[in-house]
Amino acid sequence: MIKTDPRTPRMGQMLHLRGNALDKGDPVALPLTQSSMFHLPDAPEDHATYGRVDNPTWVHLEHVLSHLEDAPCLSFPSGMAAISAALFATVEAGSHLLVPSDGYYVTRLLADRFLSRLGVVVEERPTTAFSEGGFDGFDVVFVESPSNPGLDMIDLPAVATAVRNSGGITIADNTTMTPLGQRPLDLGVDVVVSSDTKAMGGHSDMLMGHVASRDAAIMERVAEWRKVSGAIPGPHEAWLLHRGLETLDVRFDRMCASAQVLAERLSSHPAVKQLRYPGLPNDPSHALALAQTNRFGFLLSLTLESETKADAFINACPLLRPATSFGGVHSSAERRARWGDDVDPAFVRLSVGCEPVEELWQAIEVSLNAL
Ligand SMILES: *Cc1c(COP(=O)(O)O)cnc(C)c1O
Repeated sequence: MIKTDPRTPRMGQMLHLRGNALDKGDPVALPLTQSSMFHLPDAPEDHATYGRVDNPTWVHLEHVLSHLEDAPCLSFPSGMAAISAALFATVEAGSHLLVPSDGYYVTRLLADRFLSRLGVVVEERPTTAFSEGGFDGFDVVFVESPSNPGLDMIDLPAVATAVRNSGGITIADNTTMTPLGQRPLDLGVDVVVSSDTKAMGGHSDMLMGHVASRDAAIMERVAEWRKVSGAIPGPHEAWLLHRGLETLDVRFDRMCASAQVLAERLSSHPAVKQLRYPGLPNDPSHALALAQTNRFGFLLSLTLESETKADAFINACPLLRPATSFGGVHSSAERRARWGDDVDPAFVRLSVGCEPVEELWQAIEVSLNAL
């Protein structure tokens, strides 16, 4: 198995991908190309043609994303647009699709409300029992590891191998880990999808997503889907994501390191009934996390005594934004049951941001002690 150290020189190379290809006088920062038309006399050859097909700002963003994923990459206007592209590019009427029953719920909605109506046979399994029953007959197996919000993990190499041996492909949603934390393609998965709205962008100011795969035929279908469906990123969002990626390494490093500190302290706080963080040695995901991730991530979940106490904790803490979504520089938290996730009403998903950890801990501790 290939393990990539998140502090590899490749992150340095990433910051200079554009710089090393510049001509004298070119701007060092990425220009934002806000244009639907391109000046195209005569044969179009290799030039940008039209804004639904090409955009120089996306092209550079995708160069950076490809560098991070070590695979060809296409960007999309949201994580769900990327997931839709990966699924519409790989299923057809009669295909059997397996999705996790406890993963990101909109993926299940897409499968149940749209794909199944087009003749795709959709099945669901919980992450903790994902391999039970094997993968015979499945054309596409969609995985999410760690699952959002439960933080359960799947043995990605084992599942990817089993699915391939029975003739299917695997698609992994790697949103919670980013390519710095986990590299599903190196673990044998065929396609990676990500919501770059979260830690990749990192500033909670835009929505974006991407699809990456080393399978050229799949990427060709994904590109065709984007062009034909019109699910294209706005140039400004592409520019913002590119800017966010320039600091991904430092942000992710800080967020994961702080999450470990907070998890250790929260696990012995009397107000916390249950805590999940893959970096804790007694966490059910710890062994898989050690085997297949580079970091333990920035998400943790804690279950408090009651729904009321959970809300009080979140709302009283001045360094926690009571907001859905995660992965931003600002720590945030929410009770997932408010969206119908199958979790305890007092279950709180906490996304650790970039605040200095001692200041953050102090605010969290004061808020917990007041319950
Ligand atoms: C947020 C999220 C998505 C959807 O991403 P959007 O950018 O909101 O469309 C998909 N998968 C996971 C795991 C997510 O957290």
